[in-house]
Amino acid sequence: MARPKYIFITGGVVSSLGKGITSASIANLLECRGLKVTLQKLDPYLNIDPGTMSPFQHGEVFVTDDGAETDLDLGHYERFTHAVLTRANNATSGSIYERILAKERRGDYLGKTVQVIPHVTGAIREQIERVSTKDIDVVLTEIGGTVGDIESLPFVEAIRQVRQQVGRRGCVFVHVTLVPYIAAAGELKTKPTQHSVKELRALGIQPDILICRTETGFSADIREKIALFCDVDKEAVIAARDVDTVYQVPVEFAAQRVDEIVLDRLRIEAGPRNLEPWKQMVHNLRNPRDAVEIGVVGKYVDYEDSYKSLKEALLHGGLAHGLETKVRWVEAEDIKRETCAEQLSAYDGILVPGGFGLRGIDGMLEAIRYARENDVPYFGICLGMQTMVIEFLRNVCGVAGAHSTEFDPKATERAFLKLRELKGVEDLGGTMRLGAWPCRLEPGSFAERAYGRLEISERHRHRFEFNRPEYEGIVTKHGMRISGETPEVDYVEICELPSHPWYLGCQFHPEFKSKPLEPQPLFKAFVGASYKRRTERGQTDEQAEAEKFLRLPRSRSLGPMLQWAEPDT
Ligand code: GLN
Repeated sequence: MARPKYIFITGGVVSSLGKGITSASIANLLECRGLKVTLQKLDPYLNIDPGTMSPFQHGEVFVTDDGAETDLDLGHYERFTHAVLTRANNATSGSIYERILAKERRGDYLGKTVQVIPHVTGAIREQIERVSTKDIDVVLTEIGGTVGDIESLPFVEAIRQVRQQVGRRGCVFVHVTLVPYIAAAGELKTKPTQHSVKELRALGIQPDILICRTETGFSADIREKIALFCDVDKEAVIAARDVDTVYQVPVEFAAQRVDEIVLDRLRIEAGPRNLEPWKQMVHNLRNPRDAVEIGVVGKYVDYEDSYKSLKEALLHGGLAHGLETKVRWVEAEDIKRETCAEQLSAYDGILVPGGFGLRGIDGMLEAIRYARENDVPYFGICLGMQTMVIEFLRNVCGVAGAHSTEFDPKATERAFLKLRELKGVEDLGGTMRLGAWPCRLEPGSFAERAYGRLEISERHRHRFEFNRPEYEGIVTKHGMRISGETPEVDYVEICELPSHPWYLGCQFHPEFKSKPLEPQPLFKAFVGASYKRRTERGQTDEQAEAEKFLRLPRSRSLGPMLQWAEPDT
């Protein structure tokens, strides 16, 4: 049986250097040569998974088809490749220890002392083994954190052992570092990279490829210096300069032959690289025919990583129409009834994304009401679908107390509740509905028109469900349509207002399945509808500017304009 080959990606100097994008980009190039890849993230922290971590701390929790709550880097992996990721593709120290400790309690270690080496390192290797199936040519494993951290030591030791097992032609070590520009000295500095590699070598790993993050790129002599002091081939010192879009990174790597170096080291024969569709996509992204402006009214808007997949999916939705999607983050708590119209009038479409807890709900309800009453295309995702139905019940159906028991456990009009409450079973804490569920669509609905089919599958991460027995009749009588449901359990998955230009809420998270080359259908349809409204309003960029100008009081606006027109004397 042919074994897959391995690429291990570590990071040095500082965090946030883009190891995830680096891993995804290398995988992308290998896929462009016809190889089958998978990617895995091993995180040294002690949480069992990121599911319980605050979006402000950790960014988005990315959900896989099999319902794993994973690191957001898995989102990059899926967007850049066709790898099918599962819970085996993300592990943490916490999950590794959990497994070991359960075995220890069962007595599986037969009285032995359980230790970091060999037991923790062994369990890490098993985790790598788990994704090394025989259909895979190359496994890319990214080690979270920074080399030198105490908690990442067992992971570094485990990948060193893998190298020992598979041999030097069986794996490649990629190390991502920083080459900072020190303005005061007017120089690029290689010392942090040298130290980071020294650290890695002290742990028994000699990197094969260095991905050096740099603002602007560097000259041949910097490359030579790094190569000499880090003992890495000159051609394998890659200048990873800052780029305007992450989707440019595979193109940059291709230009520096990163994939060829990898294939050469691993002795893999692969076909020629076909990066053309990807390059075309990047070209389209950079050369849109027009723009569309979407207001995202959410709770975690100060930290964009909290809505990583959402933002990407909106960009992809624009890309599908040759448009640039300008995503505007609006703090839900700041939206008030009196000022709502003013706060939101600039946007061509409004989206309320997922979220947990009461904060910001009132602002979301106001934004949704504004969209509904003013024919602004609206897209509600998970929490945004729940608030959409609550707003409709309150303001259209006259059910003033409609709420979710998440926000008011004593609500009398329980429009959303946990499934156990719905069935009259005492609440046992209730876990989330996670991962892929099938959904049947109603013919002729916005959803069915977007997908172009009647059966779909999308990913979930939520606890509360629409209280169908009590409220379906009321909302449908007032013109809301339930256009998607799970075939067997009858969960409500999609609601729409057919009388509106485009108004849809879904209980699932469609953003997790959007890729730049395969925009997710609902995002495509929503952005399309938003752009239609923009053109109907006559809102081209130039006109928007002109309108802003006209709205200013004359004395204030004309003064500076005239000054600009006058030559400086
Ligand atoms: N808080 C809501 C629930 O648990 C929505 C979750 C979400 O938006 N992901 O059902």
